[in-house]
Amino acid sequence: MIALSLAEIATVVGGQTYDIPDPAVSVTGPVVRDSREVAPGSLFVAFVGERVDGHDYAADVVAAGAVAVLASRPVGVPAIVVDDVQAALGALARHVVERLGATLVALTGSVGKTSSKDLLAQVLRRHAPTVWTPGSLNNEIGLPLTALSATDETRFLVLEMGARGIGHIRYLTGLTPPKIGLVLNVGTAHIGEFGGREQIAEAKGELVESLPADGAAVLNADDPLVRAMAARTKARVVLFGEAADADVRAENVRLTENGQPAFTLHTPSGCSDVTLRLYGEHHVSNALAAAAVAHELGMSVDEIALALSEAGTLSRWRMEVTERPDGVTIVNDAYNANPESMRAALRALVAMGKGRRTWAVLGQMAELGDEGLAEHDAVGRLAVRLNVSKLVAVGGREASWLQLGAYNEGSWGEESVHVSDAQAAIGLLRSELRAGDVVLVKASRSVGLEKVAAALLENH
Ligand code: ATP
Ligand code: MG
Repeated sequence: MIALSLAEIATVVGGQTYDIPDPAVSVTGPVVRDSREVAPGSLFVAFVGERVDGHDYAADVVAAGAVAVLASRPVGVPAIVVDDVQAALGALARHVVERLGATLVALTGSVGKTSSKDLLAQVLRRHAPTVWTPGSLNNEIGLPLTALSATDETRFLVLEMGARGIGHIRYLTGLTPPKIGLVLNVGTAHIGEFGGREQIAEAKGELVESLPADGAAVLNADDPLVRAMAARTKARVVLFGEAADADVRAENVRLTENGQPAFTLHTPSGCSDVTLRLYGEHHVSNALAAAAVAHELGMSVDEIALALSEAGTLSRWRMEVTERPDGVTIVNDAYNANPESMRAALRALVAMGKGRRTWAVLGQMAELGDEGLAEHDAVGRLAVRLNVSKLVAVGGREASWLQLGAYNEGSWGEESVHVSDAQAAIGLLRSELRAGDVVLVKASRSVGLEKVAAALLENH
């Protein structure tokens, strides 16, 4: 964080200081909520969770070098006490980003936020010091903590923003007002909570509504609900996608022999070839999104193309490809799943598995509300149409819908199996896999299918 005195922090957050011998002392270390991340000079933010109360760690964190605790009650060590710790954290982030010399980029969408953010960060950091959201810490706590990790050197601050309802993005943009806003897509993720796609579009579009007139709204030209957001912003609109009128677009999109997407990147200032090191054609759209933002921030097309071609995954369990010594390939995409990402992952599996046996080990896609049955059925059917060799549906009712879809589409009997849990899937795969097989493992976060991927990689 940029150095701020405890007195200044107390004023910014409207807090009372307790047990602080010298209010002129500055916070120079990271602002953290996890006591294990405290470093000398830290400010520790004490949240009261369901199982853990951060206030219980106050003495420990000060012993570990924290200069103070941001808390909701006095804790017997230096503290700034406020009524609402989350609001105080937000106010502090807002104060700090106003003083930063960095350009703020925010991105949202139904799928691909973390993938696109990681790609963008890897492109921008070649150009100038960049700070970005670690993993998916995209909510009202992770976002201010990320913003507070920026320093005086930071030139670009890239923030992932997640929304589970109307008003969420507006709240986040209020804390860290972006100059550039990127909207990836409007899909069906969390549709159960939102009510429908229009509501999702309404919520995601709050990002572009927040942009200033001298900012840029970077929108997916291939997604009609995102394109329509152009009408909701004062900022200049930049379109990316495969559409002919996109400012930043991909031509000649293809998969290499390894199943990695390649394309020619076209921008208003020239074109250059890109071969991604990531798997799945859906990453073309993520890469274009990153390219459009980087171009907007002044990077040359060759610099962008090179950075994209060298970028790897920064966040775990997203199409992580591991080749076992016995020639079995495991594709761990167990981080999360929704209909769009399931389809993309199945297509990637088939592209990677040309001439090989392909296994789709799939579990529930959560939070689909009334569309659950139809969506699981559709994924089962797609597995048949793409000619996946084997479908292993893991879990309860939703898994049976996957299997049912496969049965209805292609009378799949032996080609699909329904097992009750991860352990059963592991047992089955251990006995059935043979050299050359490619195995995709994917489900919603709550299913925890990364256990399956980990077990298949153990002792290999
Ligand atoms: P979360 O809401 O959990 O933070 P996210 O929007 O950050 O999700 P990612 O973590 O990047 O999304 O990707 C989630 C899943 O969607 C992964 O399985 C990934 O392979 C897939 N995916 C990534 N980008 C796309 C895309 N553009 N279209 C479809 N699927 C995608
Ligand atoms: Mg994410």
